[in-house]
Amino acid sequence: MADYDLIVIGGGSGGLAAAQRAALHGARALVFETGRLGGTCVNVGCVPKKVMWTAAQLAHALHDAGGYGFDVAVGGHDWQRLKTSRDSYIEFLNGIYARNLDRSAVELVRSRAKLQGPRTVLDADGQTYTAEHIIIATGGYPRVPAVPGAELGITSDGFFELERRPDRVAVIGSGYIAVELGGVLRGLGSEVKQFVRYDSVLRNFDPMLSGRLMEELAAQGVEVVTGVVPQRISRRDGLCLDAVDGRNFEGFDCLIWAIGREANTRDLGLEEAGITVDGSGDVPVDAFQVTNVANVYAVGDVTGKAQLTPVAIAAGRRLADRVFGGQTDRHLSYELIPTVVFSHPPIGTVGLTETEARARYSPDALKIYTSEFVPMYHALTQRRPKSAMKLITLGEDERVIGCHIIGPGADEMLQGFAVAVRMGARKADLDDTVAIHPTSAEELVTMR
Ligand code: FAD
Ligand code: NDP
Repeated sequence: MADYDLIVIGGGSGGLAAAQRAALHGARALVFETGRLGGTCVNVGCVPKKVMWTAAQLAHALHDAGGYGFDVAVGGHDWQRLKTSRDSYIEFLNGIYARNLDRSAVELVRSRAKLQGPRTVLDADGQTYTAEHIIIATGGYPRVPAVPGAELGITSDGFFELERRPDRVAVIGSGYIAVELGGVLRGLGSEVKQFVRYDSVLRNFDPMLSGRLMEELAAQGVEVVTGVVPQRISRRDGLCLDAVDGRNFEGFDCLIWAIGREANTRDLGLEEAGITVDGSGDVPVDAFQVTNVANVYAVGDVTGKAQLTPVAIAAGRRLADRVFGGQTDRHLSYELIPTVVFSHPPIGTVGLTETEARARYSPDALKIYTSEFVPMYHALTQRRPKSAMKLITLGEDERVIGCHIIGPGADEMLQGFAVAVRMGARKADLDDTVAIHPTSAEELVTMR
C-alpha cells in the first residue's frame, strides 16, 4: 500500500486547494513546498501586487481630492514603509496558510520534490514517499529573454524586493504584469516608459479596452514605445536598451522584464515518471487535468492554461472532488473565465473579444453595444477619464457572449456580470434588471 492517497508537488494556489479538498474527502494527503506557502499569488503575485495597486489608487485619489474641496498637501510617499507593512501582511497570510493546512490534516514537507516514477516522489534528502495519485502544481517563474545583458533587468519577483522606488523605469512587455507594475510605479511617482513589440498594450484583449487604456496611459504620462524588440541591455549612464531596429533608449534606474512566465518543470523528474511536456515547456492535461500518465495530474500555471489563481484553485478542487469525492464528471470548464487587469483604472472582461467573436460568427449573428461616459466620480475632478463598456451578443435572442469594462469599479463590477454571462444571460435579461443609480454598473443594464 502506498504511503499516501495523494501527493501534491507545490504549495501554491492550486496545490493547496487540491490537497485540502482531498483531505476533506478523507484522503491522506501530503504537500511538498520548497518555498513560502501560498506560492506565487500570496508571495510575489496577486496579493503584494494588489497592495501596491491600492497605494497607487490612493495616489490618484489624493490628486482628485482637490475637486471635492479638500486642500491636500501630500508630503511625499514612504516606499520603504509601504514595503515593510506589505511584507508583514504577507507573513501573516503565510501563517494562516500553515494553520489551515494543519487544521485540514494535510501533511507538509518543506522540501523540493522530484518524481522518481509515476507513484514515487523523492525529497531533497533522497527520502522516498509513495502515493496512489500525484498532482503537479509547481506553477511558473518569470521569463527573461536570451539577450545580452538581460540579467541587468529584474522581473516581477525583483519588483517586490525593491527597497526604494526607482525614478526612471523601463518596463518591457505588454501584458498584465507590464501594465500593472508600470501603473503602480507611475502612480507613485516614477517616470515610466513601457516598451511593446507591436502597436499596443493588452493586444489580446478587446480592442476597446486596449485602445482606452493606451489613451489613459498617455494621459497619466506612461510613455508606450511601440515596435520595440529588445536586442541588448547594457549599463552606461544608467541602463540602456538597444532595440533590434537600431533605436537606443537610455538612462533607466531599473528595467523590468514582464514578457510572460515559464512552467516550473526543471529537475522535477518528469522524464523518469514518463510525463510529457509540450513545446512551450508546459505540462499538457486533458479536460480532467490528467497528464499522459493516468494517476498523475497537473493543475494551475504549470499547465500553461489561463494562469490565474482562481483557475488553479477551481481546477485543484474539482480534481479532488472527482478523484476522492466520487463526483465522476467533475472538472473545470475553461470557457467564460472572468479576469481583471489592475490597471488605473482597472479592466474587467469575460467572454469573447469583438475580434474573436467576428472571427467565429457571421456579422449578421452579432450585435454589439457600447457605451462611453465620464463616470460620476470624475464629475468634479481635474482629470476626466472616460469609462468604456461593451456587450457582445449572439443570435436572435442576443445571448451575451462578451462583456468588457474599463473604468473605476470595473474590478468589482465584473464578478456578478460574469455569473449572468455564465448562466446564458440575454440582452433582454440585462434590460429587465432594474438599474442601481447612480453607479457606473447601471450602464450595463441600460445600453441601447
Ligand atoms: P504557484 O502559486 O506558483 O505555486 C507553485 C508552488 O510550487 C510554489 O510555491 C513553488 O515554490 C512550488 N514548487 C515548485 N517546484 C517545486 C518542487 N519541485 N518541489 C516543491 N515545491 C515546488 N492571478 C490572479 O488571479 N489575479 C491576480 O491579480 C494576479 N496577479 C498576479 C501578479 C503577478 C506579479 C504574478 C506573477 C501573477 C499574478 N497572478 C494573478 C497569477 C497567479 O499568481 C497564478 O496564476 C497562481 O499563483 C498559480 O497558482 P499555481 O498553484 O499554479 O502555482
Ligand atoms: P502576459 O502573457 O500577460 O503578457 C506578456 C506579453 O509580453 C505577451 O503577451 C507579449 O505581448 C509580450 N512578449 C512576449 N515575449 C516578448 C519578448 N521576448 N519581448 C517583448 N515582449 C514580449 O504575461 P505576464 O508576464 O504579464 O503575466 C503572466 C501571467 O500571469 C498572465 O498571462 C496572467 O495569466 C497572470 N497574471 C494575472 C494578473 C491578473 O489576474 N490581474 C496579473 C498579473 C499576471 P505581444 O505579443 O503583444 O508582444
